[in-house]
Amino acid sequence: MDQRPAKNASLPGMSAPTPMMVQYLALKAKAGDCLLFYRMGDFFELFFDDARAAAATLDIALTSRGEHDGKPIPMCGVPVHSAEGYLARLIKAGHRVAIAEQTESPEQAKQRGGSKALVARDIVRFVTAGTLTEDSLLDSWASNNLVALAPVGDMIGVAAADISTGHFELAAVAPGALEAELARLAASEVVVPEGFADMSEAIVRPRDEFDSTGGESALKAHFAINSIDAIGALTRCELAAAGGLIAYLAHAGQGKMPFLKLPVRREVHEHLLIDQATRDSLEINAASKGGRAGSLLAEVDRTITGGGARQLAADLAAPLMDKGRIEERLALVQWFHDAPLLRDAVRSALRQLPDIARALGRVVAGRGSPRDLGQIRDGLDGARALRERLGAMADQPALLDRLLPTLDGHGAMVDWFQRALVASPPTETGQGGYIAEGYDAALDSLRLAGRDGRQAIAQLEARYRNATGVSALKIRHNAVLGYFVEVPAKHGDALMVAGSGFTHRQTMAGAVRFNSPELHEEALRITQAGGHALAAEAAHLEELIGEVMARRDAIAASADTLARIDVAAALAERAAEGGWSRPSFADHPCLEIKGGRHPVVESALAKSGDRFIANDCALAPERRLWLVSGPNMGGKSTFLRQNALIVLLAQAGSYVPATSAKLGLVDRLFSRVGASDNLARGRSTFMVEMVETAAILAQATERSFVILDEVGRGTSTYDGLAIAWAVVEGIHEANRCRCLFATHYHELTRLADSLDALSLHHVRAKEYKGDLVLMHEVADGPADRSYGIAVAKLAGLPPPVIARAQTVLEKLEKGRAETGGLAAGLGDLPLFSAALDAAEAKVDALREKLTGLDIDALSPRQALDLLYELKKAAGED
Ligand code: ADP
Repeated sequence: MDQRPAKNASLPGMSAPTPMMVQYLALKAKAGDCLLFYRMGDFFELFFDDARAAAATLDIALTSRGEHDGKPIPMCGVPVHSAEGYLARLIKAGHRVAIAEQTESPEQAKQRGGSKALVARDIVRFVTAGTLTEDSLLDSWASNNLVALAPVGDMIGVAAADISTGHFELAAVAPGALEAELARLAASEVVVPEGFADMSEAIVRPRDEFDSTGGESALKAHFAINSIDAIGALTRCELAAAGGLIAYLAHAGQGKMPFLKLPVRREVHEHLLIDQATRDSLEINAASKGGRAGSLLAEVDRTITGGGARQLAADLAAPLMDKGRIEERLALVQWFHDAPLLRDAVRSALRQLPDIARALGRVVAGRGSPRDLGQIRDGLDGARALRERLGAMADQPALLDRLLPTLDGHGAMVDWFQRALVASPPTETGQGGYIAEGYDAALDSLRLAGRDGRQAIAQLEARYRNATGVSALKIRHNAVLGYFVEVPAKHGDALMVAGSGFTHRQTMAGAVRFNSPELHEEALRITQAGGHALAAEAAHLEELIGEVMARRDAIAASADTLARIDVAAALAERAAEGGWSRPSFADHPCLEIKGGRHPVVESALAKSGDRFIANDCALAPERRLWLVSGPNMGGKSTFLRQNALIVLLAQAGSYVPATSAKLGLVDRLFSRVGASDNLARGRSTFMVEMVETAAILAQATERSFVILDEVGRGTSTYDGLAIAWAVVEGIHEANRCRCLFATHYHELTRLADSLDALSLHHVRAKEYKGDLVLMHEVADGPADRSYGIAVAKLAGLPPPVIARAQTVLEKLEKGRAETGGLAAGLGDLPLFSAALDAAEAKVDALREKLTGLDIDALSPRQALDLLYELKKAAGED
């Protein structure tokens, strides 16, 4: 609620375009489509449409003040001291906000332009989802990526930065891979140059900010380097994207640049590619109902620090493609796995550490507080202790050996900050008190003077009580009057008499207030000492911040190492908890999993005391496609997903929920669920299902892994079966990837006759005393029947309906036996490959005709005839 006193809300004389309105409109023009927070005293005010939008989002009162063009001006406001919370809600709701601050004090304004002068204001910062650094506006466990895109030629440059930690990366991607790249980055804000197609959510910026030459200069200027060779051989589109990103950050900070580390250049094929649909379907970083709970990340995450949690999320979002790097991570996890005592010790040490990376981000962005410096000090101190402990261990894994030195070298700074800052420094600097006693003798004596002054005032109070005989006399302090003597109203007259030494200042309902020369003098001493002490503290703060700025890269490297150690120890912890095993890797595209489990389903079952049934999976080039049938609720989806998750975890460098797992690296992972499973999400489901399936057929390679769950379910039985049939054939013949295909179309099992790398499997079920028992066990061979009615009975359909369905089924099955059923005649189909060739031949005949054509030699009439001819040829074949 807006609880501002009315006097703050008044906008004097707004009926004509007052100087204030002129100033406001100029700032609003600069703010563009961002909401303008216009600072007036202790409030940020919003006007016109901004006010309407903010009032609706924040649920605060919309008022109006003054007039513009003869109409009342809508207005709302938020108090400055609680603005952060309101900002968070506006940003979450998709707004961006421009902050216009007063850039001079009212006194300065008066000196400049007389008593009526308007205080100068300017936009000091744009607050947008991708440019936040405040802890309260960010999730500690998630990265917050700002992404700039720049198309050059047939490639798109992608620049991504998380300015809360300084992480900065560049990549060049083909348009077809952009979606997966954006999905990996989970961008909270995307900026694109004018004219960039198909990005309705993106922020559009001037084209000339996305220029490769400009980008190169911007990188050189920002990092103060002469050559960009240190970053790697950047392509033009990467330079252009970097330029766009840096320009946007400069705009958002109004010239104040946030923390960026030297960019890391990413090759797109460094990562297992996972598109958004697959991420959603596997619930990797977020569950399908939204939020983190129930996701793979939440299930795996045992990290202790914010930095570790962000690193784990990034690792799971972008599993690796390089066996060497994966094994290096796994070796570190194993080291912690096999040494539980060490793991515990490291984890308790990490528990004490603050989030250095984010504190550093704020300091570099110019928004650092004494508390941030204290956090950096304590974090680095902890890092030093951890380094000593780990450095003393024998047989360190290679990754640790390489990383440990980055924890060194801050000793002198930590010692300095320990002397300079109090144990837990405050966020606010206004009251001082963050520089430690004993650090600066001059500051100490100023503080002493203040303290002496306060003591002197206490003595004065005692003396006045004696002298006046008023025991209720008090010396008090408030912001308006400063120090004053106060007595109850009935004693007021005694102090009023001339020569009493007291001068009257104020009469209240129950009390009278006075001044005295002695009190005035003491008060002056206190304020002066206080003011000087504050200035001295501020000067020290500046110096400490300067030190952090100078060492920022080394501090960031320490923070990264701590995060990596946290992730490895956490994965080891999770593996030990769940009895997971270290995966191994083969050179050929196989997937051999023994005793695999779905980590999320297993945990959910464990909560209700149920046991998860582990299942094996064995895919190899000559047996690369498993068709899994069986009743609904039998465990097909769970089986499919657990294998995809095991692949993902393994390539991210984690142990996996299985007794053993061996796989050939997967280049792309796809997961699709038949439409009806998604109905609850209210999409036009069959279309979505087909669009997604089309993407798989177009993109999956021999090294990909695909899980397809009930594809074809979203349409009528005949269509659905036909589509499922053709998709299985296509995957087997054209994509040749590893694939698990779950289906309730029993007819598909006939494909085993024609597709030699396809094998049949089913989830076991049996009927026991008339009831269905789902075993959740994957067995070889096709399911004996579909058990649909048994599942319906299990679900509680009334007995008469079940009995009737049984009768109908018997009738249908009799019909099927006589006619050959749904799949009658499918046995006569030519092979998929032959059908492909035929289609190819058709196209070729047309192509031949077209290539032989000399268009310039045709008359319009001939051209038209030819068009008819071509169309006929296409249709007739
Ligand atoms: P389907 O895809 O065959 O309809 P699901 O995979 O959705 O079946 O599984 C249905 C339910 O069965 C799950 O929610 C889970 O509670 C249980 N379940 C699945 N697989 C297992 C398993 N391996 N062990 C124990 N319970 C399982």
